[in-house]
Amino acid sequence: MKELYADIIVDISHEKLDRPFQYRVPEKMRGILEAGMCVTVPFGNGNKLIKGYCVALSDKCNFDPARTKDIVAIVKNGVGVEDKLIALAGFIRRSYGSTMIQALKTVLPAKQSVKKLEHRTVERVMSREELISLLGESERKKQTAKARVLRELLEQPSIPYEWITGKLNVSGPTVKSLEKAGALRIVSTDSYRNPVKLTESAECKKSLSEAQQHIVDSILSEYEEGIRGTYLIHGITGSGKTEVYMELIEQVIKKGKQAIVLIPEIALTYQTLLRFYKRFGDRVSVMNSTLSPGEKYDQCERAKNGEIDVIIGPRSALFTPFPDIGLIVIDEEHEGSYKSEGTPKYHARETALEVARLHGASVVLGSATPSLEAYYRAEKGDYKLFTLTERLTGGTLPDVSIVDLRQELKEGNRSIFSRRLQELLADRLNKGQQSILFINRRGYAGFISCRSCGHVMKCPHCDVSLSEHKGGSLVCHYCGYSEYKPVKCPECGSKYISGFRAGTQQIEEKLKELFPGVRTLRMDADTTKTKDSYEQILSAFANEEADVLIGTQMIVKGHDFPKVTLVGVLAADLSLSVGDYRCSERTFQLLTQAVGRAGRGREPGEAVIQTYQPEHYAVVHAANQDYESFYEEEILYRELSGYPPAAHMLAVQIFAKMEESGKVLAKRLADVVKSMGLQIQVMGPSSAAIGKINDIFRFVFYVKSENYDTLIQIKDVLEEKWKEWQPKWESVQFDFDPMNSF
Ligand code: ADP
Ligand code: ZN
Ligand code: ZN
Repeated sequence: MKELYADIIVDISHEKLDRPFQYRVPEKMRGILEAGMCVTVPFGNGNKLIKGYCVALSDKCNFDPARTKDIVAIVKNGVGVEDKLIALAGFIRRSYGSTMIQALKTVLPAKQSVKKLEHRTVERVMSREELISLLGESERKKQTAKARVLRELLEQPSIPYEWITGKLNVSGPTVKSLEKAGALRIVSTDSYRNPVKLTESAECKKSLSEAQQHIVDSILSEYEEGIRGTYLIHGITGSGKTEVYMELIEQVIKKGKQAIVLIPEIALTYQTLLRFYKRFGDRVSVMNSTLSPGEKYDQCERAKNGEIDVIIGPRSALFTPFPDIGLIVIDEEHEGSYKSEGTPKYHARETALEVARLHGASVVLGSATPSLEAYYRAEKGDYKLFTLTERLTGGTLPDVSIVDLRQELKEGNRSIFSRRLQELLADRLNKGQQSILFINRRGYAGFISCRSCGHVMKCPHCDVSLSEHKGGSLVCHYCGYSEYKPVKCPECGSKYISGFRAGTQQIEEKLKELFPGVRTLRMDADTTKTKDSYEQILSAFANEEADVLIGTQMIVKGHDFPKVTLVGVLAADLSLSVGDYRCSERTFQLLTQAVGRAGRGREPGEAVIQTYQPEHYAVVHAANQDYESFYEEEILYRELSGYPPAAHMLAVQIFAKMEESGKVLAKRLADVVKSMGLQIQVMGPSSAAIGKINDIFRFVFYVKSENYDTLIQIKDVLEEKWKEWQPKWESVQFDFDPMNSF
């Protein structure tokens, strides 16, 4: 029998991960020891016994076999913070297909000395009365920037300087002039331990509504009984979910436990943070991408040492090394950003459930438009579902009209604005109210449809739309099926069959032609390249520096605009036919969020959805803000076609320097899968939607199975084959239940 060797890491810190030591695996541990397990090994000249972690197994010895030492024992069920992180890395490795080292690098913070950053805060100097009178004066003189700072200072005696220049979009000289006027003082501190520090931790608890209290009581009483459940709160924006999270967190902290709150980075607004800071003072900390690695490391140390109880942040905040987590909250659980794009491609929702299992914590998910995954699990009884139906922030749901663009064309309107939308835009401009124009364009959507009858060209095998490739062919992103682009619509014979090509810039131009003098702001990938530009555009719009905000999906999140009374969705079809199985879900979410942006203030709102498929269920149910009906139809489609969450899917991506060899390799891999004799379906291989990036050719195939473990098994076999073949110029990546098609 061949010898078996294990790579053991003895110093589990991010920096030493690439330096494992090899040990021999004694016979009795064979078949038991696997990557992620904790072991004891003899170390150094004195053979002192120390703890180590297994990261890989191999039958090759990289060293002198005669001098390779044996592993002494496997340590079961470690309980330390580190043991839990190792176990978590093991879970990620197994479930998402990465190496143990990659998984460890994901969960362990990189050690970095914290540079003492200069950190400035702005502190209130004037009394409240003086501030109020100065605020009144600024408002009269229409000094909106000054007024913003003063209003904030009234709420908060001390504000980080970056919030003012960044989030509030106020220039340095304006702050200086307020300092001269004696309203505030700019203070420098050299430590930057806590990104936001409040001097006053004002108690600002709301007494919960009956519906909110019911949720809190149900979850807590289960917690008391020792039940650690997963709960889904389905409630529109403003229905009081955050208030529920905070109450639950407070109760869990009282028991000496810690809480993690995940929020999509884009929704991590100052207002939200402030509410947490006001409630939990300096026991709460924030993790976001603007922190330096040193600051992040510092936050982790504070968490480990028990200096904080709550951390708020995006996906990666899940790996905060708290000793005893009691609760994990995932707000806006449906957001695509919870799935990691780098390797390992883990999903924060599933990974959170594992963290909760390791710690004995409960998980609360919240969303206005839950992911099909979460709602499906709730329907099955794995999660407990709660609903909040009333908006506590006031405002009413807007009146929505769906405009049939086919009809517009028939009646001679070739403009990108329907007559209804033009009418309403003119009305708002007259009244001095604000509007939002939304184009739900994403990625490389290149689908083809008929502008006369709305017919979309679809793959006969996968029931997703075909995408237009260079040279006039239409290709399926899943299976590679392709056909020539027709010159006439196969349904109605019209010659108006084409792709959509409208961007935000074009919309802005057309709008200005239609309404000369209209003040516009544009938000898209181009206008938000620099840091803070996103916030600056939003606050400029909030300060009524424009009549119309034109943008992509970025604008439907984050800020509230009480002055907006009209939302126009220019072409709902853009996200409806992207060529992957999630496009209806994404469209429903986007349309629901977009439509909900109108009428948040005192004036009632209206929304117009323009589309070539006015009868499509995602459009109809979004217009009615009716999640349940949408879910019913969508889950049926997923079940019939075997897409997640009804089944599981593995995307295998192959990257190659040479086109031919990549193609051959992809086919060989797919053939291996097909020959395994499993209950599966293989789609492809085909060239990826973007077939070449930076001179690297990309191929992909998909495997569908009802059983997740079957897909893991397939991944393991493919990895073995890969090792055996040792391809030189190619690489492979696995993506479980992918969020996009490739
Ligand atoms: P969501 O997280 O669902 O968007 P929030 O918790 O942010 O909802 O609540 C929306 C608004 O309603 C916030 O301004 C919040 O302060 C307020 N609010 C929430 N719960 C209550 C309550 N029980 N009583 C009064 N106001 C509340
Ligand atoms: Zn047609
Ligand atoms: Zn297909």
